[in-house]
Amino acid sequence: MYVNSKKKACEELGIYSEEHALPQETTQEELLRLVEKLNNDSNIDGILVQLPLPKQIDEKTIINAIRPEKDVDAFHPVNVGKIMIGDFDFLPCTPAGVIELIKESGIEVCGKSCVVIGRSNIVGKPQAMLLLHQNGTVTICHSRTKNLAEVVRGADIVVAAVGVPEMITGDMIKEGAVVIDVGMNRLENKKLVGDVNFEQCEKKAAAITPVPGGVGPMTIAMLMKNTVKAAQLK
Ligand code: NDP
Repeated sequence: MYVNSKKKACEELGIYSEEHALPQETTQEELLRLVEKLNNDSNIDGILVQLPLPKQIDEKTIINAIRPEKDVDAFHPVNVGKIMIGDFDFLPCTPAGVIELIKESGIEVCGKSCVVIGRSNIVGKPQAMLLLHQNGTVTICHSRTKNLAEVVRGADIVVAAVGVPEMITGDMIKEGAVVIDVGMNRLENKKLVGDVNFEQCEKKAAAITPVPGGVGPMTIAMLMKNTVKAAQLK
């Protein structure tokens, strides 16, 4: 679903894209060779390795092999470090999309209490950093957090990036809070739901994102933005 949406967005914008759909049993060396070939291809400005990878391939080794200036996902340690010090070329797509949503909705982050639930390298951690760049007062929650509900109840802005269907319930949301749902969970009945119970939280929130149709499309848009920027920087 992700790969198709990304290809479609490229087509719509007139960005050339190619998909290398490799077999499940591809070795790490084979994938590294492909990354190196694309690193050296002057027609390619951005490289995206769709995660997760099969178990015989070390994700870190592959991400480290992508040239930082072509790393449009912003997962390479050089780009992660640049984000940390606030001097970056690319921002990771999902957290950047969340910030864009907040800004476009006219919501002020400065001085607000922001709670991010989840601390993954691709969403939670960079999300917290980007909210900090916007002068939010940021708390990061994770699976070992005690009194999660209480912490979330104190938040003006809640970003849920957990991967647990509808775990953020209405009673955890402060009246008038902004609720952003990054989660994408496929239920057994094939229904796609977020990490937030939309029906319950909508009643309390000043603004809330739906799933699907909230953060997901923003992620794609930010990927396109990074790709254009990579081309411009080249
Ligand atoms: P990960 O599994 O890498 O991280 C999940 C995080 O949630 C971890 O930090 C984990 O804590 C924490 N967590 C798990 N269970 C609980 C719990 N019960 N209470 C509190 N914290 C908990 O997931 P990702 O960050 O990659 O993705 C999160 C969600 O966002 C998924 O649903 C994914 O599909 C979706 N997603 C959506 C995107 C989009 O474009 N819309 C893009 C990327 C992801 P700990 O570190 O302690 O284990």
